[in-house]
Amino acid sequence: MTAQVLVVGSANADLVVAAERRPGGGETVLGGDTETLPGGKGANTAVAAARLGADVALLGAIGDDGNGRLLLDSLRGSGVRTHLVRTVDRPTGVAYITVTPDGENSILVSPGANHALEPADVDGALDGARVLVTSLEIPLTTVEHAIAAAADAGVLTVLNLSPAAKLADRTLAALDVLVVNEHEAAWLLGDRSADPAGLLTLGPSSAVVTRGAGGAVVVTADGTTEVPSPEVEAVDTTGAGDAFAGALATALADGSTLADAVRSAVRVAAVSVTRRGAQPSYPAASELQ
Ligand code: ADP
Repeated sequence: MTAQVLVVGSANADLVVAAERRPGGGETVLGGDTETLPGGKGANTAVAAARLGADVALLGAIGDDGNGRLLLDSLRGSGVRTHLVRTVDRPTGVAYITVTPDGENSILVSPGANHALEPADVDGALDGARVLVTSLEIPLTTVEHAIAAAADAGVLTVLNLSPAAKLADRTLAALDVLVVNEHEAAWLLGDRSADPAGLLTLGPSSAVVTRGAGGAVVVTADGTTEVPSPEVEAVDTTGAGDAFAGALATALADGSTLADAVRSAVRVAAVSVTRRGAQPSYPAASELQ
């Protein structure tokens, strides 16, 4: 039993605390109450896809602890298949998030169990999948193996290169769709003002650059297409990029063209920023009319 969308990625508990300012070295600052929310790029992407009705599974790793159970409940409650989520002998990944009154987040990630996700875990998981989506809070060797194995099996490969990291040239060359935000694009291209079309010289068949309130840009060998975002009142952009990736994969698995899939992803991500949190903010297909 394999899902049509396979997400290979992280699952973290987000521990969020508001504070007047973030502590410097050797300093203690008192903050508000801690909120514990299900997160991690992989889990977020899978939940976004499932809310839209995709048949989606997460290949991931969690610990045998309360945070792991929180994540499983959220995944299952959203309809994500969890038979490929392994429980390992390390703590579930945690993101420690400090939010200051200026709205700025600072985030420390302890990957924990996510680092136990091995290349061999991918073998067998891809059978029957149409689209693989992966991102980088898991070991790079696992990401690289997942993309190579999917490409060999004729599964469409989507990489959300976030947080930005250096991958093997052959991995980028095996990619159907590279998804990055503007910061990651600038990092890859070495220049903030560089033409997004330059991303294709790194090897992928196509690339999508997300631009916050500015929507997204699609780059293929045929040219560049700008996809504007609907205008919305943003209250919390946490997990917007993951919502975008999940919606993109869902549309691609349904047979949409890349440009149409990006139009759909921009609408889904726009709804997600009008609500608080990552996973709780993701819309169902019926809310997009
Ligand atoms: P990331 O969350 O990875 O940093 P972006 O900030 O580019 O990436 O956001 C991803 C997508 O979320 C955008 O392409 C857009 O569709 C949507 N989005 C983000 N911020 C806003 C906003 N203020 N208004 C409308 N849509 C937004």
